[in-house]
Amino acid sequence: METYDPLKDEERIRKFWEKEKIYAFDLNSKKKIYSVDTPPPTVSGKMHIGHAFSYSQQDFIARFKRMNGYNVFYPFGTDDNGLPTERLVEKLKNVKSKEMSRVDFIQLCLKTLKEITPDFVEDWRKIGSSCDFDICYSTIDENSRRISQSSFLELYKKKQVYRKEFPSIWCPECQTSIAQAELEDKEMPSLFSTLKFNSEGKELLIATTRPELLGACVAVFVNPEDKRYKSLVGKKAKVPLFDFEVPIIADKSAEPDKGTGVLMVCSYGDKYDVDSIARHKLEPRVILDRNGSLIIENFKGMKVREARKKILEELEKRGLILEQKQIKHMVNVHDRCGAEIEFIPTEQWFTKVLDKKKKLLEIGNKIKWHPEHMKKRYDNWVKGLDWDWNISRDRHFGIPIPVWYCNDCGDVILPSEKELPIDPLEIKKKCPKCKKDAVPEEKVLDTWATSSLSPQITSSLIKGKVKIPYSLRPQAHDIIRTWAFYTIVKSELHEGKFPWNDISISGFVTLKGEKMSKSKGNVIVPQEVMEKFGADALRFWAAGSRLGDDMDYQENDLTAGKKLITKLINSSRFVFMNLEDFDGKKPKKLVETDKIFLNQLNNLILGATKDFDNYNYSAARLKIEEFFWKDFCDNYLEIVKKRVYQGSGDEKLSAQYVLYQSLLALLKMFAPIIPFVTEEIYQENFKNFEKVKSIHLSDWPKPDFKDDIKGWNLLLETLSKIRQEKTNAKKPMNSEIVLTLENKTSVALKNLLEDLKNVTNAREIMEGKFNVDFVD
Ligand SMILES: [Zn+2]
Ligand SMILES: [Zn+2]
Repeated sequence: METYDPLKDEERIRKFWEKEKIYAFDLNSKKKIYSVDTPPPTVSGKMHIGHAFSYSQQDFIARFKRMNGYNVFYPFGTDDNGLPTERLVEKLKNVKSKEMSRVDFIQLCLKTLKEITPDFVEDWRKIGSSCDFDICYSTIDENSRRISQSSFLELYKKKQVYRKEFPSIWCPECQTSIAQAELEDKEMPSLFSTLKFNSEGKELLIATTRPELLGACVAVFVNPEDKRYKSLVGKKAKVPLFDFEVPIIADKSAEPDKGTGVLMVCSYGDKYDVDSIARHKLEPRVILDRNGSLIIENFKGMKVREARKKILEELEKRGLILEQKQIKHMVNVHDRCGAEIEFIPTEQWFTKVLDKKKKLLEIGNKIKWHPEHMKKRYDNWVKGLDWDWNISRDRHFGIPIPVWYCNDCGDVILPSEKELPIDPLEIKKKCPKCKKDAVPEEKVLDTWATSSLSPQITSSLIKGKVKIPYSLRPQAHDIIRTWAFYTIVKSELHEGKFPWNDISISGFVTLKGEKMSKSKGNVIVPQEVMEKFGADALRFWAAGSRLGDDMDYQENDLTAGKKLITKLINSSRFVFMNLEDFDGKKPKKLVETDKIFLNQLNNLILGATKDFDNYNYSAARLKIEEFFWKDFCDNYLEIVKKRVYQGSGDEKLSAQYVLYQSLLALLKMFAPIIPFVTEEIYQENFKNFEKVKSIHLSDWPKPDFKDDIKGWNLLLETLSKIRQEKTNAKKPMNSEIVLTLENKTSVALKNLLEDLKNVTNAREIMEGKFNVDFVD
């Protein structure tokens, strides 16, 4: 091997893997299957550092399982059928989707995706993901559309999906209804104004942050226990500025000590309003349209904030404000665009989840969560569900909801399975009863409604050879309430099973403890990191944090990775320089030092294997690394140097054999984490002996023998003491000495003294008080 340069050589190695299909799933194999429900990244410009981090972590596991004899099913996919893709295409092509016909826009999206997806996926290949990229899907491709629509039809027939006119969570910016899971809390400043309503000729004070909804007021609530207002219950209150009257209702939800103790109920300020209006069967007064503008007299066309300002001015002018104060409070915003959401009554499709909370919690218990504490997030999410899952979106790009409606009899008309995938806007259907043209549904499905079928979609790509439950779902913690939750829902509804045995949750990448964001300008670009350090070093860094923990990006870690790679190359070169006459055979008898070193290696193998089995690759990395630097390079190589240089017969062969075996075992244990350099060393040196095509297809190292032989640590301690003496005396490490060992040490190391003599260049070893005498 010439000088190994990750920046040049990684690509060559990757091409070798691709050409030889090293990571192909074997459809005909009889081996046990380990199946990964790979997260399909949302297609955007480039892979980001969070991707590099979490996909490396799942790849460690996939590679470990492959080397442990599993036929690993590790497909790849991209998520590209929803709002993010729609927004991306609008940006890239400078168009507005709603100004185009759906057919034209979808065509543009598919064309754009074709242009950008290969480049996007290339980054995953570059970081050394061992996915089988030949088993690849996109959530907008024909097969995914068919499976997603078929899921919809099945759940509709099972009465698990229904359509309802309902004040749903609405994003005025994206102009679509969204699901509870897409909400984010954001702290915002607001003005809390106490307004003068009127009842029975007297002022009735109500404090609110949303005066623009005065025109939508449908009732006023007071607590039945609140003596101040008891006499008003059943009477009317006059809404300031608008002068219409609303009933005063006693309702326990009004808190006497909040504001003035009187609440205005509007259609719709928040979920509380939605529930209250339904509970008292009040007639809503809807004053917002779908883009968040008011539709009432004098304020028509004004957006919420503008109307709020204007209405406060009018109230002020008429002396209808008692007092105002600045507060900070939490508001719900759309996670994709940050806009404050509204509740607007529209007809939407829902999947039933509220009636299954108990069942969904039980399923959560059947899945093994790594790390365990992440299950709490799932549990809390299920317990806190307020709505059924809204699965319809008023957008252009997405998988069409496959239904038509009859305007005459109101029937819902469905396509047959054979017709899928189908776009109702493209196909005319008649009502079978009335024989009249049916109206196509224009809405599309929530993108999660499709990505939550990832096990069913990937399974379909290999004719169902892999079935639910999959072995592992790896994902990030911010999508527990969406992707993990929805996949569990769909798996339960369709298969009556939990979707995977294990779920592993990775954390975020931070910079100096802060979340990275483009607006803050503190973004690390993985492509640049790889150009500077190579993919192995990036993966080495990703292995530095425990699963689920957030990880700070520090260049030190990358440098450490690069150093390890160089050391692996150099020490391998040294080992093989001394193995030129080695034939791979085990000698009849091993030298004692070699035996106790192998014994140490066995302990390492046991520990690292256990760590990997528990998805604890960071602990494994630490152990392997420490052993490699300290036990292998600093000590064992030095100890056996003289035997391989000058020794002969079994003495030499024993050292050669153990050098070969231990280096190979170390490389194999490093292989899941730094797959490129380990492959390089394997191909150059080991392949001739081992015959297996790639290190990544070879067997995980197994402990060689059972007896636990002590002595290694005492040997290293003694060696270190002697080296210290040489340093103190400012002598070179190879200076010749006469060594005196305590009787206890000398007895314990009795079979190792010859090697100790060699490595310390001791002319003689005597017994007595520990002492190092220099010969000259
Ligand atoms: Zn939005
Ligand atoms: Zn009809």
